[in-house]
This record gives sequence, C-alpha cells and structure tokens, in this order.
Amino acid sequence: MSSTSSAPNPYAVARQQFERAVIHLDDIPANFIEYLRHPKRELTVNFPVKMDDGSLRMFTGYRVHYNNVLGPTKGGIRYHPDVTLDEMRALAMWMTWKCSLMNIPYGGAKGGVVVDPHQLSLAELERLTRRYATDISILMNPSNDVPAPDVGTNPQIMAWIMDTYSMHFGAFQAAVVTGKPVEVGGSLGRNEATGRGVMLTAREALRQVGIPVQGARIAVQGFGNVGSIAARTAHEMGCKVIAATDVKGGAYNRNGLDVPALIEHAQRTGSVVNFPGSDWIDNASVLELECEVLIPAALENQITKDNAARVKARIVAEGANGPTTDDADVILDNNGVFVIPDILCNGGGVTVSYFEWVQDLQYFFWSEEEIWQRLERTMINAFNEVARMTKQRNISMRTAAQALAIRRVAKATMIRGIYP
Ligand code: NAD
Repeated sequence: MSSTSSAPNPYAVARQQFERAVIHLDDIPANFIEYLRHPKRELTVNFPVKMDDGSLRMFTGYRVHYNNVLGPTKGGIRYHPDVTLDEMRALAMWMTWKCSLMNIPYGGAKGGVVVDPHQLSLAELERLTRRYATDISILMNPSNDVPAPDVGTNPQIMAWIMDTYSMHFGAFQAAVVTGKPVEVGGSLGRNEATGRGVMLTAREALRQVGIPVQGARIAVQGFGNVGSIAARTAHEMGCKVIAATDVKGGAYNRNGLDVPALIEHAQRTGSVVNFPGSDWIDNASVLELECEVLIPAALENQITKDNAARVKARIVAEGANGPTTDDADVILDNNGVFVIPDILCNGGGVTVSYFEWVQDLQYFFWSEEEIWQRLERTMINAFNEVARMTKQRNISMRTAAQALAIRRVAKATMIRGIYP
C-alpha cells in the first residue's frame, strides 16, 4: 500500500468534499464560500542536513496554513517519502474543518518533509528536525501556528521542535507545539487521544445502528499511534480485534487477537507481522474483512472505487485522514455503510492538543481523568451534532460534518468582516 501516481490527489478529494458540503449552506453568501476555497499561505523550504558520513543532503519540506479565521492554525507534521504540497494543502484544509467541527478555537495547517525517517540515524533525524523547525519558524509560534505529530513523527521530534524554537526565542516556549513528552509540557493522554477518540465515535455509531459493542469485530489498517491505541481501546471496550496491519503486512485471527500482547510484539519486533497465533494478512485484504468496524489508520486513498464495493464492514471509522476517495464514498453510501468521517472520527487528537496548549499557556496541568472527561464530552457532542444534521437533511455523515464545520468558519469570517 502506498500513494502511487495513479492514486487520487488528496487535495482534489478534499475540494470535491467541500463542493458537496457547501450545497447545503444556503444561508452563506457565495463570496464567502469562494474565500474558503483557497489556502491562506504556503511555504516550501529546501534545506541541507549534515549526514553522519560527513556529506550534506538536501531535503524539501512544507508548511501550509489553510485558514486562521477561528484562531491560530493547528496541524501535524508528517515525515514520509510521499509528502507533496497538494497533500499538505488537503490535510491543512481538513484540519480547518476538523478544528471547527470539534468547536476548538483553531484554524487549520499541515507540514511535512519528504523523507523516510526510518532511513536516518537518530542524530540525523534530530538535525533534520531542528533545521526544518528553524526554516518554518517564520510561520510558527504559540499564538499563530502550533504543529503536532503526524505520520512518521513522534513526541521526541516535538520536543526537538520546542527546544529549537525556545533556543531562538531565548526562553522556554512549551506552547509552540503539542504532542510533547509530559516531562517538557506535554499533556497526559495526548498520545492516546486520537485512537481513543476513534473508538468513542465508533461506539456511538455501533449504538446508533443497533450492534452490541461487546464482541463487535474490529479490523485495523495501520498500527502506529492511532491504529494501535484504537485497537487497545476497542479491546478494553470488549470488542474483538480480528486483524491489524502495518507497512510490512498484518496479523489475523478470526477469534480475536490479544491486543496488549500484539502491541508488545510490535514494539519489540517493529511490526505486527509473525505475531504468535495469528495468520498473515495483507494491507488490501484487511479492508475487505467480514467485520462490524473497519478502522483505516494509515494513509490516504485506501478505500477507492476499485475496492469500496468489497468493504463488508457495517461501520468505517476513519482514523486516518482522507482514507476514502470521493467516488468510493458514494459506493459506501449506496451500500449503507456507516462512515464516521475523518474530521469527526480522529478529532480526539487535536482536541487534546488544544488541552495541551491551554495547559502550557497557563502553566497549570490537568489530571488524566479531567482530560478523558472533557475529551469524551467533546467527541460525543460533535458526533451527535453531525448525526442530527445527517438525519435532518438525509445526507452522509461526511457531508453533514463538513457542512457544519464550513458554516462555522464562514459565519466567523462574516462577523470579522473582510479586511480592509
Ligand atoms: P504513525 O506513523 O504512528 O503510524 C502509521 C502506521 O501506518 C504505521 O503502522 C505504519 O507502518 C503504517 N503505514 C505507513 N505507511 C504505510 C504504507 N505505505 N502501507 C501500510 N501501512 C503504512 O502515524 P499515526 O500518527 O498513527 O497516523 C496515522 C493516520 O492518522 C494518518 O492519516 C494521520 O494523518 C492520522 N491522524 C493522526 C493523528 C495523531 O494524533 N497521530 C491525529 C489525527 C489523524
């Protein structure tokens, strides 16, 4: 599985979704809709990194601010060989709608570097991160743009970004980035927030379609931060996780996998592959398994027009951003698959990132219990709002989520007015 040149352009997918949603915003003047069709600013940086063998290697990175009407822009940083400017635009656009939908006072952004982080030594990764952070710091600061982890980045990388920015600033600036280790201003629960939020929305969807949570079969594609925590939460809720895959392949057991042992195995060996008591499954087949909930939690463009008709899950919970292409969406909808759209399903991550930023700005840290209570309330409120509009308008969860989110940004724009 990877984004090939024939795969749909994620930015085209994001824009098609936008057009489908704005049809339902008859109360917003066309001029304001047009304004929201465009990213606000885009930065490309080409920068050198000293490699361990003494050579210099050039890398390319991006930071896109899609919209900042609701507040500072927020969005992860991705390290992956397939990163493109259009992918960043799409992810920044989705972040804008996600923050709005979760009712968080943030705009949307995304950043990334074209690199396979697994091919770098730890020292090279640190130098790359510090140089990229320096080059994007003309856009990044605690009141303007606050990055977070995404595919290929982690709390250690966030700590390096915070340290680099703080060194330049001349004082500790914890709130410049979220997803940090708790020792340096991170929030309790941030690491688990996205995966946990995925299962909170999946649980609501199971209840809505009348399937017992206990024993519900779950299949997970991608076993990183989001996929592994979603699997662990599903296991804790009493569901049966029957399959999990990562970039190297997967593990399948129709009677259910022992998720804590699988996580330990993946941490020890670097993959879920060869987990004792499981059969091999590949990244394409996991999407077509007989199950109640399918959780794509890797990259974009996994459910396409070519395989959507073979998705047998009753519910698709989009842990990843943009895992379903636009034409696949139509097929899933026609087949009665309940899709929990990415901007709702994985909104738990940005929600606890927001909590982290608020705690950093106040130098006052909350208990894990407070975090979980607030997260659960935020996720369920957003789920219910989207479900209500879905029923009122007889539209998909995705279109309802996008329409609600876009309306909020448009209304704020109208209230602020167009400068000058
Ligand atoms: P991660 O790097 O921790 O994990 C990614 C997983 O996907 C790994 O298991 C990796 O092996 C697998 N993967 C990567 N490339 C693959 C490929 N070509 N084929 C198959 N598997 C592949 O990343 P993550 O943070 O878990 O993010 C996963 C998805 O969730 C992304 O779409 C990301 O944008 C989205 N997301 C993440 C967060 C967050 O808080 N981390 C929040 C919202 C959305």
